Amino acid sequence: MGNSTESVITDYLVRIITRDGSIRALACVTTDLVGEACRRHGTWPTASAALGRAMTGGALMGALLKTGQRVALRFEGNGPLKKVLVEADANGAVRGCVGNPEVNPLREDGKLDVAAAIGHAGLLTVTKDLGLKEPYTGTVLLYTSEIAEDLAYYLTDSEQVPSAVGLGVYVEPDGAIAAAGGFLIQSLPPCNDELVDRLMARIGAMPSVTELLRQGKTPEGLLDHLFEGIPFDTLEKRALAYVCSCSRERIERVLVSLGHDDLASLMNEQGGAEVTCELCRERYSFSREELQRIVDEMMSGEAC
Ligand SMILES: [Zn+2]
Repeated sequence: MGNSTESVITDYLVRIITRDGSIRALACVTTDLVGEACRRHGTWPTASAALGRAMTGGALMGALLKTGQRVALRFEGNGPLKKVLVEADANGAVRGCVGNPEVNPLREDGKLDVAAAIGHAGLLTVTKDLGLKEPYTGTVLLYTSEIAEDLAYYLTDSEQVPSAVGLGVYVEPDGAIAAAGGFLIQSLPPCNDELVDRLMARIGAMPSVTELLRQGKTPEGLLDHLFEGIPFDTLEKRALAYVCSCSRERIERVLVSLGHDDLASLMNEQGGAEVTCELCRERYSFSREELQRIVDEMMSGEAC
């Protein structure tokens, strides 16, 4: 089990399909899980917005997978944030981190400049573990570095599924996450051009996702807004949460992989080990005695 810290479920995702079967859409609210990630990583506002958008995008893409499958997003650019990593699965678990949390570029109008944080030159790499022998990996150049457009570009260009993505994170002046969420719309074959045109016009005319969320719009409300007058069926509603798959057992396996000599020096020189999970900042402490037990188990394992 991962170390889920959410007890009250407030983040969730809704998936719909138009009655003619030509458009599928997902919308979600991720305020709590983004807030949790930003607290854990100590991100400054623009880094929070970048991480929050990427995690929301990951949640949306994870919802398109089957049980047991996972998706990882890696935004890597020439900006001070260095990278954003996100992992999500089909069960609504999302985790993520940034290369440098203490980054806060602002635009001239005072808004958070996510593109400057990530950098205008770079790559988006999407890795999908579909339970096959090899994971599927697709890479595209960063398009606008605003994250939503980059994901839409990836889905349309690399996966050949025409897609529109909207993501929003509202960061309070004190750094708290007031609202986060987004939507993903995909055109399925055979394409209904007229409906796609209608939706694109509506997306172009709608207020930002951040603004809609701050008005209190739920995922259902976002979809009602986008699909007003277009008949659709709701396929599912699922909870989302910040969950990391790290555990004491997994960290122990990492320690074992260090080998006997490194473990012995940790024991003797530092009197123990403290290991921090990169993706959730959870700290795992191992005392000298625990390290000794791991070494003893290694030695007896080797004797077999
Ligand atoms: Zn972790």
